[in-house]
Amino acid sequence: MKNLIILLFVTVFYLKVFPQIKDLGMENIKSGDLLWTVKILSSGEYDGRLSGSEGYNKAANFAAERFKQLGLLPEGDDGFFQYLNVEYNKIDTPAVFNLINGNKKFPYILGKDFVLRGFTGAANITLPVVFCGYGISRPDLGYDDYEKINVENKIVLVFKQSPSWKINDEEWGNEYPRQKSRVAYEHGARGILFVSLPNADKPQPLIGSVMHGEGEQLDSFPQLQISPEVANDFLGLVKISINECQKRIDDREAPNSFLTRRTAEIFVNAKYKNSVRTMNVVSKIEGTDPVLKKEFLVIGAHLDHVGSQAGLLFPGANDNASGSAAVLELAKAFQLSSVKPKRTVLFVLFASEEQGLFGSKYFVENLKSNPDKIIGMFNFDCIGYGDSIQIGNGESSPKLREIARKIDKEKSNLMVADTWNGGGADATPFHKIGIPCLYFVSKYSYDHLHQPTDTPETLNLELLEKIVKLGYLTAREVAEGNYKREVVIK
Ligand SMILES: [Zn+2]
Repeated sequence: MKNLIILLFVTVFYLKVFPQIKDLGMENIKSGDLLWTVKILSSGEYDGRLSGSEGYNKAANFAAERFKQLGLLPEGDDGFFQYLNVEYNKIDTPAVFNLINGNKKFPYILGKDFVLRGFTGAANITLPVVFCGYGISRPDLGYDDYEKINVENKIVLVFKQSPSWKINDEEWGNEYPRQKSRVAYEHGARGILFVSLPNADKPQPLIGSVMHGEGEQLDSFPQLQISPEVANDFLGLVKISINECQKRIDDREAPNSFLTRRTAEIFVNAKYKNSVRTMNVVSKIEGTDPVLKKEFLVIGAHLDHVGSQAGLLFPGANDNASGSAAVLELAKAFQLSSVKPKRTVLFVLFASEEQGLFGSKYFVENLKSNPDKIIGMFNFDCIGYGDSIQIGNGESSPKLREIARKIDKEKSNLMVADTWNGGGADATPFHKIGIPCLYFVSKYSYDHLHQPTDTPETLNLELLEKIVKLGYLTAREVAEGNYKREVVIK
């Protein structure tokens, strides 16, 4: 805080004496400062920043305090905060998962062998395990993993994803864990083990996730993701691998459910709340031009992550402490620069992206200005890991992307050519109402995604700094009025 005041003071003094020094903002974007923020947000104190948790609230307070220190104006409903309500599930100890074979117990390790789904129910059960294929019950399509098997008072083991094939080109309609859990529950099962498709090109590792789908919470129905190795342990007595299980179903496009002859012990402690208050953090720097100040550039990132489970922390350093740090650093850079933006710039940290973009959706649904006045939106999400820069959504907003491309060419030459359309993550709600968006991300960013290993030590700090600098110079161009809002290509 003190340093910041000194820095601002020195800046003002310098500009009086040496007005030719143009952009102290740019010069003060520093990897060390970005890392400082990332380390704070991804530390245990912030508990993985799950929206609705105390850890998230702390992160929101930290961000609001930074905006205030930097002299930005509050633009929430109540100071810097814009409130919304979300579902919330607190997972405490114990988190026990064992294989029982006769009177022997084989304990598994949380984070290594299994994780809990963010919206797991609580239970203490020891029950036989049934393999139930894709966990789909669609007799209307002539496909039912539950048809020939009794799962009553048992735990089902199912594939997390839906099949790559379809019947009559119909959607399966239960892509989400909550829906698959509901199907199992309605068939009398008492818990569910998800295993990621073992024959996929790149099988999904164990991930912390609160992306659960819609529907009622099953309070006493435990939901775990287990590794393929653990799934094989459960199939040991029937002597078939989980890979073979998938192959048999996929080859015939027909169910192949059976009793594994193994028992699982599950003890999970979770407390669910249907509606808990959380918040976006919103601030602004008002434009200096009397006309252009009524137009806005939104610079955003999601502040939330997937929390912790019974002491297992998901730090979310890349996802998305990196993007949150960028937004704060950009706010600082704009404040330190001698050139004040002509357009108004909004700096927003979104809640609850991980649950389903709820913070950004809420923000877009409750805009204070006419949506036409939002000239552009920059989203920073996972910008600190990998080796190059990708600017997404360029197919939908090619002119905006071209500004970034030119700057990159000149300054760092790290931008890859491929991009996409349709927004992406928190850019999506903006894109949907016709706002041109750029999605800043580091290429090959996802090796540690939603894993306990997403820590500050893994970040490429040089790259992180360069992306933020690219974001800054691109934002300046837009904020100066040098970009006319283009028609978004859907
Ligand atoms: Zn993210």
